[in-house]
Amino acid sequence: MNFNPVTPEILDVLRGIVGDDALSTAASELDLHARDQSHYAPHRAEVVVFPTTAQQIADILRAANDARIPVTPWGVGTGLEAGSIPLFGGISLSLERMAKIVAIHADDFQVTVQPGIGHKDLNAELARHGLFFPPDPGANASVGGMLANNAAGIRTVKYGASKDNVLQMQVALADGRLIRVGSRSVKQSAGYDLLHLFVGSEGTLGVITEATLKLVPVPAHISAVVAAFPTVSQAVETVVAVRGAGLDPAALEFVDAAHAVMLSQSDGVELSAHPHVFMEFHAAHNATLEAGLASVREICAEMGALNVRATTDTAERKKLWHARHHSYEIMVRSHPDKQFYIMDVAVPISAYPELIAYVEALTAERSIKAYMIGHAGDGNIHVEFPYATDAEDAKMKQANHDIVLKALALGGTCTGEHGVGVGKARYLREEHGEGLDVMRALKQTLDPNGILNPGKIFVAEESD
Ligand SMILES: Cc1cc2nc3c(=O)[nH]c(=O)nc-3n(C[C@H](O)[C@H](O)[C@H](O)COP(=O)(O)OP(=O)(O)OC[C@H]3O[C@@H](n4cnc5c(N)ncnc54)[C@H](O)[C@@H]3O)c2cc1C
Repeated sequence: MNFNPVTPEILDVLRGIVGDDALSTAASELDLHARDQSHYAPHRAEVVVFPTTAQQIADILRAANDARIPVTPWGVGTGLEAGSIPLFGGISLSLERMAKIVAIHADDFQVTVQPGIGHKDLNAELARHGLFFPPDPGANASVGGMLANNAAGIRTVKYGASKDNVLQMQVALADGRLIRVGSRSVKQSAGYDLLHLFVGSEGTLGVITEATLKLVPVPAHISAVVAAFPTVSQAVETVVAVRGAGLDPAALEFVDAAHAVMLSQSDGVELSAHPHVFMEFHAAHNATLEAGLASVREICAEMGALNVRATTDTAERKKLWHARHHSYEIMVRSHPDKQFYIMDVAVPISAYPELIAYVEALTAERSIKAYMIGHAGDGNIHVEFPYATDAEDAKMKQANHDIVLKALALGGTCTGEHGVGVGKARYLREEHGEGLDVMRALKQTLDPNGILNPGKIFVAEESD
């Protein structure tokens, strides 16, 4: 890809759009925006720009497009697939200064926000209205970054992913047009679904400058269940059984034995050295929860659970879930000398036991150190590989490749929630076939000069 450098003249144009104090070429700022939370190597932009309005974003894109300068949107950099790394330099477009709530439409269960707001910060504000935005990637990701990646997380099994919780967006296109996609009406049937074209497009088709999100009432009653099982297959079959019983869990998570040991050693929560299933249920009435818990206990007992801890008490629930919520930090803390690669695949729920058995056998056969933790209720697993040496790196990459192919063979996807970014681009042909050509045609239509987040979603050999 041929791009032009950011010259002093271009910097003047950008200053003219955003002002002197909303642009930086300082090494510290470039470094801060050169890496996300993934294992991929950092790469600096030539300038970081901090717009404060949608019109500024549109003007920046028009100028960059005219000058053939790449633009990589930056939410808060918690991505795990290098999505916000400016691989070709150019402009890192930071949405950090666009973090306002524009309007709360409480009667419609909706909120309109700027893209840079953290979903946790948003939910803290919405709690005053008894409402919340359910998608929850563990980190305090920005709403724009979540929509761009179609992020999901622990509560997706009940409330859906980011794509299911957005109604309308404003998007700035590469040529400087600002368009609205979707509607504030919950039912929408007017023409092509452009809203969901931009959701999950990872900043490669446009920049999300505003979003109207769907909200749900904060549940009045919440219960938690943590159950240990003698084998992985019993734990995973329990996940399928709970889904099959129509119990509508709000979270249904699988944690393998190695991870359970690490969590209990570091977090003080007592988990035995066995595979565990973590569950959460939401209800308007406590009696509904208690009835549900009785059924869950029965299912766990039938599946041979070694022990089941269940509670409707808030403090006890938070204690039980604390380790799961902080598993990433605990894992990193427990391996100070290692880097981590967190892989992400998803399959239909009926194929989940086979996928997990495959990962277990593969890592055992090849003596690969790995932890499994997953949003099991959605058929989604993360295999976490600690590594330090080149040999470990090579083994881990091969394992990652084989697991992705297995997930695809089982009718799944190469990424359930982390997005394509750099690492999953090579699997899109296998997953989408000629559909990938349609994606490329859409990219060509909306961004003919390829300035928007180049190097992501499409691999180089696919480009001509
Ligand atoms: C501890 C931890 C746990 C995580 N758990 C989960 C999880 O459970 N589920 C999950 O889905 N993810 C998870 N993630 C990954 C991450 O939080 C998500 O990918 C999230 O969507 C990234 O948001 P961000 O604001 O950090 O975006 P960034 O990382 O800054 O950017 C992500 C992508 O979005 C693009 N982008 C950002 N803002 C915009 C915008 N306004 N318009 C257009 N494009 C934009 C960027 O260019 C990039 O391609 C986890 C990450 C960590 C560190």
